[in-house]
Amino acid sequence: MNKITEEIDAIRGKWGNKLLILGHHYQRDSVLAHADEIGDSLELARKAAEHSEAERIVFCGVRFMAESADILTSREQRVFMPDIGAGCPMARMADMPAMRKAWAVLGGADAGWLPVVYVNSSANVKACCGEFGGSCCTSSNATRVFEWVFSQGKRVFCLPDEHLGVNTAHDIGIADEQIIIYDPSKPFGGVHPETLKSARVVVWKGFCLVHTAFTTQQIAQVRSVIPQAKIIVHPEAPKSVVRLSDAHGSTSQIRKYVESSPDGSVIFVGTELNFVQRLAKNQAGRVMVKALSQSVCANMSKTNEQNLLSVLSDWPDANVVNIAKSVAEMAHKSLDAMLKL
Ligand code: SF4
Repeated sequence: MNKITEEIDAIRGKWGNKLLILGHHYQRDSVLAHADEIGDSLELARKAAEHSEAERIVFCGVRFMAESADILTSREQRVFMPDIGAGCPMARMADMPAMRKAWAVLGGADAGWLPVVYVNSSANVKACCGEFGGSCCTSSNATRVFEWVFSQGKRVFCLPDEHLGVNTAHDIGIADEQIIIYDPSKPFGGVHPETLKSARVVVWKGFCLVHTAFTTQQIAQVRSVIPQAKIIVHPEAPKSVVRLSDAHGSTSQIRKYVESSPDGSVIFVGTELNFVQRLAKNQAGRVMVKALSQSVCANMSKTNEQNLLSVLSDWPDANVVNIAKSVAEMAHKSLDAMLKL
């Protein structure tokens, strides 16, 4: 055991259950070795709320995840990040002023729109969603949230990930011509009022660098070399990649797919590399798990044992994630709408 590991263990021992360390699946093994709970972003935010005895929560992930934990926990619980600069580039592709502008361009609630905001978004965007009566979604439950919108006779305005929006719309049988891309860098989002009339889904032109690194060429290469291999990718991958894969799903759904595959299967997985390598290690000897491409989230990688130890030792105010009460209340509303479904 190295010295840093020993020091972290000693601090954890001292704090007992008043300290909770949360680790996202995309973190490196040396960080997850210290986590009390490991999961996806929403699972971890809910765990934080369940552990009401924890006075201090250290979130090893990216900023939007720590924000959700702060929103779902009591005001007395303080949420810290080992590296406060670990943000999600996709979450930053949508902000509240741009969302309000888009809402006006689309015609808002009067034109039958309801926002569906991916949890990979800022607290401000979630708050705006709550204000407009919409719901958050995750990559596991996006289909259910879209169906909830359609069951009310409404239309989906999905942000910030284009690919999750398009793939979900596809999964539930929405025709291509009824799905429109809203590009915030263009006047009026590049949306023509005529095409908007018959649209059922509008998706924000945002993307994840990690999941758009998977390509149809990589799939063709796997199929030509190992024809019996199965390929599963995350729905943040482009539609063309999802269509050529055998399956697609969230992190938990990918794990279940691998775990329920017959012995001797060869499975190529298109998601973040740290998670794929852990899956491969856990399944070694039963199923062969390979990365479709070596795609690493640079922001997730900003957390390491060294900055985890620093935050546990000094508890710097600069590393606290504290969402303003008014924003947290509205953001909570959009998370609640999803949790009720
Ligand atoms: S993997 Fe993509 S969506 Fe997830 S934190 Fe990294 S950049 Fe953001």
